[in-house]
Amino acid sequence: QAHLDRIAAVDGDVHAFLHVNGGALAAADAIDSARAAGEQLHPLAGVPLAIKDVLVTTDQPTTSGSKILEGYLSPYDATVVARSRAAGLVPLGKTNMDEFAMGSSTEHSAYGPTRNPWNLDRIPGGSGGGSAAAVAAFEAPLALGSDTGGSIRQPAHVTGTVGVKPTYGGVSRYGAIALASSLDQVGPVTRTVLDSGLLHDVIAGHDPHDSTSLEDAWPSFADAAREGARGDVLKGLRVGVIEELPDSGFQPGVAASFRASLDLLEQNGAEIVEISTPHFEYGVAAYYLILPAEASSNLAKFDSVRFGLRVTPEGNPTVEDVMSATREAGFGDEVKRRIILGTYALSAGYYDAYYGSAQKVRTLIQQDFDQAFEHVDVIATPSAPTTAFKIGEKIDDPLQMYLNDLTTIPANLAGVPGISIPSGLADDDGLPVGIQFLAPAREDARLYRVGAALE
Ligand code: GLN
Repeated sequence: QAHLDRIAAVDGDVHAFLHVNGGALAAADAIDSARAAGEQLHPLAGVPLAIKDVLVTTDQPTTSGSKILEGYLSPYDATVVARSRAAGLVPLGKTNMDEFAMGSSTEHSAYGPTRNPWNLDRIPGGSGGGSAAAVAAFEAPLALGSDTGGSIRQPAHVTGTVGVKPTYGGVSRYGAIALASSLDQVGPVTRTVLDSGLLHDVIAGHDPHDSTSLEDAWPSFADAAREGARGDVLKGLRVGVIEELPDSGFQPGVAASFRASLDLLEQNGAEIVEISTPHFEYGVAAYYLILPAEASSNLAKFDSVRFGLRVTPEGNPTVEDVMSATREAGFGDEVKRRIILGTYALSAGYYDAYYGSAQKVRTLIQQDFDQAFEHVDVIATPSAPTTAFKIGEKIDDPLQMYLNDLTTIPANLAGVPGISIPSGLADDDGLPVGIQFLAPAREDARLYRVGAALE
């Protein structure tokens, strides 16, 4: 009830939610009764959970931030949602996002932007700005997001929250509406590292419905966070700092906060090691070919027949006329831009030059990480180049918007896990800043230990 009250009080301004679950209180009451009856419950039973609208749910509509799916009700729950329900978490509502998770500001939502609770004139990050804003504004204690190129970590950075992108394959993608299937991962957005660990424990693990799901038995991420909080895990930790990352691209307040975090790590016994990952900075260029290519294919299923919206032009329209009118009306500008870019990059004659080259760069980035992790335990970067920018500032300049993902994208290209934790407020504009840690694939627990130690 407290969270519903909070939503009623602030969500008119913040607009973190697209839908609030009318059944939330009844579900919470059922948990209370079970607890009163002495049933053994999961530690998170009864805790409200905000769910990014990219995840399908049977009891609430799912739009992925798009008009083309307005009113769509899924016949099944995403695996992460099903697992959350099984643990007794109470779905609180569906959170706003850039349409089909394309964006870094939530301004590309077909349902209007979310605002940053720290300053309502600023963006809450994207694409999962709704989940991060809901957590930052105390509308929800825990949220689920999806991260294809930073959509969990960059919103966490600009809202002073914690966000984790798990190892690719560590969390099921079944029921997460696909943006770019080789990059997408679902993960937690919370206010503390331990909270993320608790939620990650619920959603992790093999799922036969997802062909890329790993069969690993994961250690408890909550335990890793508790271990980190006890202290001396930073002693002797080798923290890699990327030599090639251009200083000039970072807002001074973000760079200063990053340096202060490195000092803190050193004071606590960590060793800062310069590493070379020469292809890191080409991540954005490779990503914005690979992602549109995969997205153009994934979005082909929105064809006016199988899901959601159907627009039938007057006269005697053909199937193609209906499909075309539906996609024209149902997709926003950014989605259309990427579909065009993706089909172009994949077309005969251009495939090798664009998609093929981007895949080669992707491999080089993976190799850079493999080599770097022979020398360091984790890599640290600022989570994004700037703090929350103004709503409207970058909306007309896609390249500026894409450059926001400079430090988050490489983890998705390489499949490695990443965490963004708050590192304070920028000394130039007073807005939240995050520090990102990356670890080798399958070493998500390391991020929880380090994150909780520094928190
Ligand atoms: N900003 C990135 C993009 O627009 C991130 C997307 C994501 O992680 N879903 O593609």
